[in-house]
Amino acid sequence: MKDKEEIIDAVVQGVTDGKIQPWKIEALLSEEYSVNIPANYQLAALCRRRLIENLTGHKFNHIDLPDKPYLMQWQCPKDKSIWHIEARDTYTTCSYCGSSLAPFGTEPGRSLPLVANYIGGLEDYYSYAGQIKVSGDVNKTFTNLLAYGTGHGALGISVGCFRINKLGGADVRVNDWAGAARNLGYVFDSDGKREKAIAEAKEMLPALRKEMEEKYLAEFKGEIYEVDFVRRQHHGLFYLYICFHTRFKQARGHSDTSYAVGFARARLDSRFNEKGAGFVQSLVAMGFDGDLKPAPRNRRGRYASAQVRVPIPEYEKMSKTSIDSLFSYMDIDRHGVLDEQGSGLYSGMGGEIIPALYRATKVNPRPYNVSCTENFYVEVKGNDVIFGVELPNVEVGIASSREGLICPTAREALKFIGIDTAKEFAAAAAALTLTGEFNFTLLHIRGEMYASK
Ligand SMILES: [Zn+2]
Repeated sequence: MKDKEEIIDAVVQGVTDGKIQPWKIEALLSEEYSVNIPANYQLAALCRRRLIENLTGHKFNHIDLPDKPYLMQWQCPKDKSIWHIEARDTYTTCSYCGSSLAPFGTEPGRSLPLVANYIGGLEDYYSYAGQIKVSGDVNKTFTNLLAYGTGHGALGISVGCFRINKLGGADVRVNDWAGAARNLGYVFDSDGKREKAIAEAKEMLPALRKEMEEKYLAEFKGEIYEVDFVRRQHHGLFYLYICFHTRFKQARGHSDTSYAVGFARARLDSRFNEKGAGFVQSLVAMGFDGDLKPAPRNRRGRYASAQVRVPIPEYEKMSKTSIDSLFSYMDIDRHGVLDEQGSGLYSGMGGEIIPALYRATKVNPRPYNVSCTENFYVEVKGNDVIFGVELPNVEVGIASSREGLICPTAREALKFIGIDTAKEFAAAAAALTLTGEFNFTLLHIRGEMYASK
C-alpha cells in the first residue's frame, strides 16, 4: 500500500487532469487504494483540500477537518427509529423514548459521508462544488465552497459548473449599488393637513437628507438617492407614506437606513406640529416598503443576473429531446408560480443554493430569505437558447465590520472562493443558481431526475 502523501498526490493529479471526479474519491480510495471505510472519508477530504489549495494558492487554516468526518447509523431498539449521528457525537439516546440507541447495520457499512464532496467544517459541513467562470460585470473564476447542510445532495452544482464552463462560462450582470429602504407613515384627519405636511417635508428635505447621510450612512459610504411621497386614504383618514431609498456599494445598510429614517421622523413630526400640519399618528411604517415584497421595483439588496447561451441543436442533443419540451417544461412551472403566488418571482433552486453560499460565507448576519428570490427564464434569440436567472435582492455586507462580524472559517471560505467585494458575492450567487437550475432542467427534461426503477 502506498503512503498517504503518495495517494493524495496521485488522486489530486487525477482530478486535475479530469480523470477523476471529485465526488467519487471516497469510492476510488477504497476500491483502488485499499483505504478502508471509514478511513477513506478523511483521506478523500484531504485530497479535495489539497486540490483547492493548488487551485487557489491559499492554505486551509481555520476550516477544520476532524479525524472522523462521517456519520454512523443507529437504531432505537424500542420504536425502531433510525438515526444518522456524526461519529464525534457521543449523545446516542433516542429522544422519542429515552432508550439507548444500538448500532444499525454492520461495520463498516453503517458509516456514511457527512455531505457529498466534504472538505471540512465542524458545524457547517463544507462541500467543494467545482469552479465557475464568470464574465461580464465581474470577470473571475470562483472556486466554490458551499455549506448545503446535511440532507441535501450536492444539488448538481459541480456538474452544472462543468457544463456551463464548457459553454464558455456564465455571463453575469450585477448592479454597482445595493438598495435599502425605510418608510414613514402618517395619518391625517384632513387632506389639507396632509398637503401642508408634504409641502413642509419637501422644503426640509435637502438639509435633512444631508444630515441623515452624515450622521448614519457615511460610515458605510451610503447615500439617499430618492425620497418619494405616496398618498392613500380610508374613510376620512388620509395616509401619507414618505419613502426613503438609500444605496450602498459594499454594505447592506438596512439597519443604518432604519436609524436614519427614525431620526428624520422626529424632525418631521415637530415641523408638522409647528406648521399646522398636525397628524393623528406618525410611525415607521415597516410593512409598506423597505422589507421585501415580490415587486418589479427593487427596494432591498442588489440585482444580479447570470446567463448562458447555447445553440439550439447543441441543447437538443444535450437534453436528448426537443426545444419544445424545454419550453413546455418551463411553462408548467411558471403556471404554478404565477397562479399560486401572483408574481413571477419565486425561490426555486435559489432557495437552497443561495443559503448554501450564505452559510459558507456568513456575509449577511440577518435572515437572508429576501436574497433568495429568483426569476429563472429561458428565451430564444436567433438560433440560440438562453438560460438565465435574475436575483433582484441580493443583500450582502462583505466586510467583517460593525455591520456584521464574520467568523474566521467564513472569512477563509470567502478567500478560497475568490469573493472580495459585495458585487462579486452577488455574481457568484447568480452564477451558482444558474448552474443548479441549468443542470436540474436538463435532468428533468431527460426524465433522469428522481428516476427510480
Ligand atoms: Zn426510541
